[in-house]
Amino acid sequence: MKILMVSSEAAPYAKTGGLADMVSALSITLARLGHEVKIVIPRYYAVDKGKLELLPGAMGVPLGGGEEWSAVYSAVMPDTPEENPVRVYFIDHEVFFGRDGIYGTPFEPDFLDNPRRFTFFCRAAFQLCRKIGWSPDVLHAHDWPAAMAPVYLKFAERLSGGKVKTGFEKTVSVLTIHNLGYQGIYSKDNFRYTGLGWDVFYNAGFEDWNMMNLLKAGLYSADRLNTVSPNYAAETMLQVHGFRLDGVLRYRSADYSGILNGIDTNVWNPAKDPFIPEPYSGENMEGKAAAKEALQKEFGLPADRGAPLIGMVTRLTGQKGVGDLFGPAYGSAWPICRDMNLQMVLLGTGEAWCEHEITSLSSRLSNFKAKIGYNEGLSHLIEAGSDFFLMPSRYEPCGLNQMYSLTYGTLPIVRKTGGLADTVENYIEASGGGDGFMFDDLTPQAIYNTVGWAVWAWYNRHEHIEAMRLRGMRQDFSWEKSAKMYVDLYEKTRAKFGF
Ligand code: ADP
Repeated sequence: MKILMVSSEAAPYAKTGGLADMVSALSITLARLGHEVKIVIPRYYAVDKGKLELLPGAMGVPLGGGEEWSAVYSAVMPDTPEENPVRVYFIDHEVFFGRDGIYGTPFEPDFLDNPRRFTFFCRAAFQLCRKIGWSPDVLHAHDWPAAMAPVYLKFAERLSGGKVKTGFEKTVSVLTIHNLGYQGIYSKDNFRYTGLGWDVFYNAGFEDWNMMNLLKAGLYSADRLNTVSPNYAAETMLQVHGFRLDGVLRYRSADYSGILNGIDTNVWNPAKDPFIPEPYSGENMEGKAAAKEALQKEFGLPADRGAPLIGMVTRLTGQKGVGDLFGPAYGSAWPICRDMNLQMVLLGTGEAWCEHEITSLSSRLSNFKAKIGYNEGLSHLIEAGSDFFLMPSRYEPCGLNQMYSLTYGTLPIVRKTGGLADTVENYIEASGGGDGFMFDDLTPQAIYNTVGWAVWAWYNRHEHIEAMRLRGMRQDFSWEKSAKMYVDLYEKTRAKFGF
């Protein structure tokens, strides 16, 4: 199949979160399975065009009543199979993308002209295909910035104009929700940039309480919808997790499902991780003890093998439950660290209020140490050196850290939500079964009790802990499995149209 990924992020070029990793890893794996995959993303300022190849000739992109001109760059995605490389195309437009930030900056978190920037980008995806003379079988769009692409496909590009061919008459679309909390809601004044008629504003589902909702339009228009875990798919059809779009998702439930993200097992593998002092595996766990010691040293904690060490690596934002349920005086961290004989380390960066809670906690507790910042290497050491990994998320579409933890023999302590519920199995005290510890309630008490349960097992059922570690390490979270499910999804969607 010929597959076009339309996304605002793709690792290693532009990344703010899991979306970037998913788009690239899925594309590479699909290419390994023999499919022809191309990715289109904007050429942000931070992407050095000196390292890219410039396609000859400028490209006209209709926008509103006029036309904008774009240059197109391209590159071969690193680590793609040589015989079937994934090519990445970069849409270059000085006014829209020649600035710092992907969606915004700390001072302007959501650029005012985002609806215009991403409408332009989605439109450009189709022009690009015409420019390179390539018609995809599947257009796979990701999150709200790319949600206009399925709209254009359904309401413009797939409509055959008799003799004039668009090149997309036999293309189907899939839209993946990576986080329903971000929808791209703007004043409907911006609708004029789409160049679509006002009938489409209503028919495609843009309308949202007199505003324009880009994700909602995508959810109405894409031929197939999915999200990044089966449980999050089910949750988002409920009012509590639906961010006001649960009704739309229930309406589309026959075309909506979840596929768990995979992890990059080349990068996240304790047997060959360059960021940890010694490699280890289920057969020889000595390296894990060495990682624990290195981690304690890194954070200035006493080198104590006997005390359980709980790690966290997280964006510091409300979604992760770290700022309000965990950090403040009424949160769970303070009583946990006071009452239990354990050590805790946290690495994270994010919103100022949340960073402040964590920094202040770290200055008051001797067994809780935090570092504010983004540090890839240290995140590996935390996964390897910790005994437990805490994720008290409010919601978690998929979550990668719990899968990294299981792979590294570190037991996740998680709220039973989204992808966390799909990947972690709760400890069974009677038999020693399971591979982590889970709680339902979104309260500091629930976090306290569950961490307490894990610490109790550490001191009183250590043989269970050892067995759980090995069980987690045996799980298969590779992309291979998930990519095959996407292939199946693409095929089913095409079959619906008889393509
Ligand atoms: P989300 O995409 O919602 O942030 P995920 O668990 O899906 O959550 O993915 C987060 C990814 O970002 C993980 O790979 C995690 O290790 C990484 N990460 C988050 N914060 C940091 C940080 N401060 N330093 C290094 N890596 C981080």
